[in-house]
Amino acid sequence: MTQVTDHGGGVRSLAVPIPDNPLGTTLVHVVDTDRGPVLIDTGWDDPASWDVLTAGLAACGIPVAEVHGVVITHHHPDHHGLSGKVRDASGAWIAMHALDTEIVRRTREHKAERWFAYMADKLEACGAPEEHVALLRAARTARRSSGLPQFAPALPDREIVPGELLDLAGRRLRAIWTPGHTPGHVCLHLEEAHPAGLPGHGRLFSGDHLLPRITPHIGLYEDPDDATVADPLGDYLDSLERVGRLDPAEVLPAHQHSFTDAPGRVRELLTHHEERLTGLLTLLATPLTAWQLAERMEWNRPWEQIPFASRNIAVSEAEAHVRRLVKLGRAEAVAGSGPVTYVAV
Ligand SMILES: [Zn+2]
Ligand SMILES: [Zn+2]
Repeated sequence: MTQVTDHGGGVRSLAVPIPDNPLGTTLVHVVDTDRGPVLIDTGWDDPASWDVLTAGLAACGIPVAEVHGVVITHHHPDHHGLSGKVRDASGAWIAMHALDTEIVRRTREHKAERWFAYMADKLEACGAPEEHVALLRAARTARRSSGLPQFAPALPDREIVPGELLDLAGRRLRAIWTPGHTPGHVCLHLEEAHPAGLPGHGRLFSGDHLLPRITPHIGLYEDPDDATVADPLGDYLDSLERVGRLDPAEVLPAHQHSFTDAPGRVRELLTHHEERLTGLLTLLATPLTAWQLAERMEWNRPWEQIPFASRNIAVSEAEAHVRRLVKLGRAEAVAGSGPVTYVAV
């Protein structure tokens, strides 16, 4: 049985499981339009998840063949995983922001090889110990010789343009660009009065940008082809303020549960990140590499218990925070250090 929630006003959500993941489920939203139902995100590409998605649609009286379109908040596999299968079954279009479509294109074209090489170099430059980098190089070799089919997420056929209404018959759904969690993350603002008359402006499908009980991962965008020094945490904090100002009556996120008082949740998250940055400045009283900083930061478990792959994510998050501090003029790279160390100023 699929957990189906009717949010009123032609919007329902289906809880689609993510295998072996503490998040549990992705909330796939179904928005009725005059041309047929449109999905916001699709869920993880797994046979069991597909069964739950199609059973949930059936419970709403929707054969999957009737899905008209798919709007993706961002490219992560718990959101975009099943998009290709939905399109195959229905002929639906898939829409995504151009910057995340670029990542999908990259993932399809290569270049796992290139990515592994890039990450290994980057980790070395961050001060990762040799045994950690060696594990990554070994994973790269194992992958090359495994003969497994390459991971190939569906290439979208429509572009989500920030600030514009999506082409949905009979609905007003506007794209709000909210980079940070990914470069092309979007929230979708349903600019219609709340069906239960809650105060505020419409409803916001927030993807992973604004969640009721957790903060999304903010790491580097890790694009081997992009030499510009991105500031994902700065992007995220700006995006948070932007959705707070929309003041939606209700937020429908892609995980956990719907909630009200978006501006209040935005304030909590801004405070959380400010406190975290201040805590990092204390650690940076002595010069540290991004790796050393990650080892000393607070995570959901002690560093020694964080598995290999998650350490890469943690270091990426540490570096995103350092970049923000450098950009704010509160920390700087120590001249001549290699691997580069950072210190509070
Ligand atoms: Zn995500
Ligand atoms: Zn997610």
